[in-house]
Amino acid sequence: MKVALITIGNELLSGFTVNTNAAWIGIELGRVGIEISVQHTIQDEKKDIIFELEQVSKKVSIVIVTGGLGPTHDDVTASAFYSYFNDTPIFDEDYWKDLTDQFSKINYKIPDVNQNQAMKPKKGDCIPNDFGSARGLLYKINNCLYFALPGVPKEMKAMMKKSVIPILKDQVTNPFITRTIRTTGIPESALAEKITNTIDMRTYNCSLAYLPKLLGVDLRISSQDEQQIQKFEKKIKPVIEKYVYGYEDEALEEVVGNTLKKCRVTLATAESCTGGLLGHRITQVSGSSEYYLGGVVSYNEDAKINLLDVTQETLTKFGAVSEETVKEMALGVRKLFSSDLGISISGIAGPTGGTEEKPVGLVYIGLSSVKDLIVKKFNFFRDRDSNKQISTQVALNMLRLYLRDE
Ligand code: ATP
Ligand code: MG
Repeated sequence: MKVALITIGNELLSGFTVNTNAAWIGIELGRVGIEISVQHTIQDEKKDIIFELEQVSKKVSIVIVTGGLGPTHDDVTASAFYSYFNDTPIFDEDYWKDLTDQFSKINYKIPDVNQNQAMKPKKGDCIPNDFGSARGLLYKINNCLYFALPGVPKEMKAMMKKSVIPILKDQVTNPFITRTIRTTGIPESALAEKITNTIDMRTYNCSLAYLPKLLGVDLRISSQDEQQIQKFEKKIKPVIEKYVYGYEDEALEEVVGNTLKKCRVTLATAESCTGGLLGHRITQVSGSSEYYLGGVVSYNEDAKINLLDVTQETLTKFGAVSEETVKEMALGVRKLFSSDLGISISGIAGPTGGTEEKPVGLVYIGLSSVKDLIVKKFNFFRDRDSNKQISTQVALNMLRLYLRDE
């Protein structure tokens, strides 16, 4: 089953609106084993929409169009559909009454321009919209299904979930299955080397994609044969085991949080250059108060001294970004919160503040427990935001590995 996605809107082409609909639809269809084979973005022009419908109809059996269903003159998708399918829409009195009532509930007289949203096709069907006035359209012509949905993400998503995906699910005979393995702590090329040195991809009937991101590399295995995916996964797992933190859309903070909860281990954080970002990520997980006791953002020297018992002597002798300071921060925060683990971060996020000896991107991360005090030194060499983000990822990964080896 081949699917074409056409997203409509001048604002998508100019870059004023990021085409999040296309990404969302790709992911959601992927979840039910459907792959989009072509995706085009075009302007709000009736003739362009008709041309596009003609072109993709030759290649696919499902066409999904989003955008341009609103009431204003620049919304031409419905009229392009009517022309393309040679349809003459009729005025839907009942729906117009519904719309008029909805507007009057919010004390508005319904504008006349909304009348075109009360038109309904003769040869096709309307798709209900629970969050807006623009209903979608569905035409079934020559074994091909054509959907038109609004561009407003909230409306489009609800309609996809409620109406479109259930119809498509019924049509899939041999769905594509994907498995995402999430890794961190290893660059894409090193990961690829490990995998290709051990495995001959040609012996598996599945494909492997490397999806590198700032915080790690996701591996996406896909095939129409689930057993092939399992066989392949079983083979690569031992090779990359240390770097794998989760599957599908699991986040590292979630994985670490679950382990802390399961092991009944409590945690406190002491952050300098990350300014609370680590605490933010940890608390993004619902129920994190069970294991996360709290944190200190000790951004300047006095805060490190007064809140975490870092000594003036250490700061003067070694500096705020040093192994010694980070050790004292991890110990100090563990004591302050009486937690089982204390994790600390201090680094030079940049763009200013770097020296030859301590360049931008230099970060120390410390981990203190009753029996250990570990400090690691990193050179991330990135911009400020990336240095902060990577620091929190590495800190969480240090926690993951520490808890795993316990
Ligand atoms: P409306 O009734 O609001 O006019 P519509 O169906 O005509 O709805 P558009 O006019 O195309 O939809 O877009 C409405 C809003 O949704 C705009 O703010 C637009 O930027 C946003 N939008 C449209 N298409 C997308 C897309 N592909 N990804 C993200 N946002 C989008
Ligand atoms: Mg519009």
